Amino acid sequence: MLQAGIVGLPNVGKSTLFNALTRTRKAEAQNYPFCTIEPNVGVVNVPDERLEPLAKLENSQKIIPAAIEMVDIAGLVAGASKGEGLGNQFLANIREVDAIVQVVRCFEDADVVHNMGEIDPVRDIEVIETELVLADLQSLSSQEVKVQKKARGGDKEAAKQLALIQRLTPHLNEGHAAFTLPLEEGEDEILPRLNLLSAIPVLYACNVSDTDLADPDSLETVQAVRKHAKDRGDAGVCVISAQTESELIDFSPEEAKEYLSELGVSDSGVSGLIQNTYNLLGLASYLTAGPQEVRAWTYRVGMKAPQCAGVIHTDFEKGFIKAEVVSFNDLISAGSIQAARDAGRYRLEGKEYLVEDGDVVHFRFA
Ligand code: GDP
Repeated sequence: MLQAGIVGLPNVGKSTLFNALTRTRKAEAQNYPFCTIEPNVGVVNVPDERLEPLAKLENSQKIIPAAIEMVDIAGLVAGASKGEGLGNQFLANIREVDAIVQVVRCFEDADVVHNMGEIDPVRDIEVIETELVLADLQSLSSQEVKVQKKARGGDKEAAKQLALIQRLTPHLNEGHAAFTLPLEEGEDEILPRLNLLSAIPVLYACNVSDTDLADPDSLETVQAVRKHAKDRGDAGVCVISAQTESELIDFSPEEAKEYLSELGVSDSGVSGLIQNTYNLLGLASYLTAGPQEVRAWTYRVGMKAPQCAGVIHTDFEKGFIKAEVVSFNDLISAGSIQAARDAGRYRLEGKEYLVEDGDVVHFRFA
């Protein structure tokens, strides 16, 4: 299962978010028997509004949402790349994740000390990214030595890596993250092999006070983070109130609804954070539906029908014949599989079919 790491400076709300996520949105362990869960790793359900209506339509007994792993990576302070704080351990933990959710503090609270003084989320982002870039520069210089030898020996692959390393080094030296470097043809395959921290896609999560949830864009801090993300290319931004989410844990659904409506919102922003993280990981869901269960299956965007069938079972991929497909929207507007079929919306797709998010699929296999 792909992992997203929650990172941020101390006292920005990481643990509050992690605990809220893993207590309110914890995936049922029985559905994921193969993941070994460490204390700071939680399997979190991906909210999907399509599942309920689909279950109603099919009279399904059970709903199984998609899930991702979230890791709480504590301990970053300025100087981590030089081993300050939990420095090296922290960086090693980040190297394991596929996407980064960087929590930045946009809430004011005189009782909760910010370790850098004033509330300034863009400075916080820069502190963290500087550590990642510094660690990457160290890693690039040792990789360069190795690759140089191979390239001299005529290894073409190594020559390409060397060229990328030599373009990346000045870019990082100017303080830019690796993933902001415009790549030349073929380099998008080489970059992941360099295993750089600042090449991991990032989502900034602005942690605001509950009273700011209804209109977060009136906050200068949130505006500043949005601008920074834009300047930086493709970083995503979402607004959450980790504290609100953690307070919902003990509420019944009705109480939670009432509490949120008093704040002028329908959710704490955390559903959006999970969905955004899922997209950032390059993941999407296709759906299966029947009387027993409705289920969202995770695949990587760009996977074809047989590979997607393989997500359910390797036999489905090996013996793939066809996929019966109807999009969720077409199915719901038709009202039943039969009606979708009559309307010509139910398709038979072959091996080359690129599965789309929200496809309701039934695989035929030998
Ligand atoms: P971490 O060090 O980033 O993991 O931060 P924690 O989650 O431990 O939070 C640090 C402190 O900030 C705790 O006392 C939290 O209760 C508090 N906190 C977290 N989120 C909020 C928030 O949105 N508003 C306020 N006022 N306090 C918060």
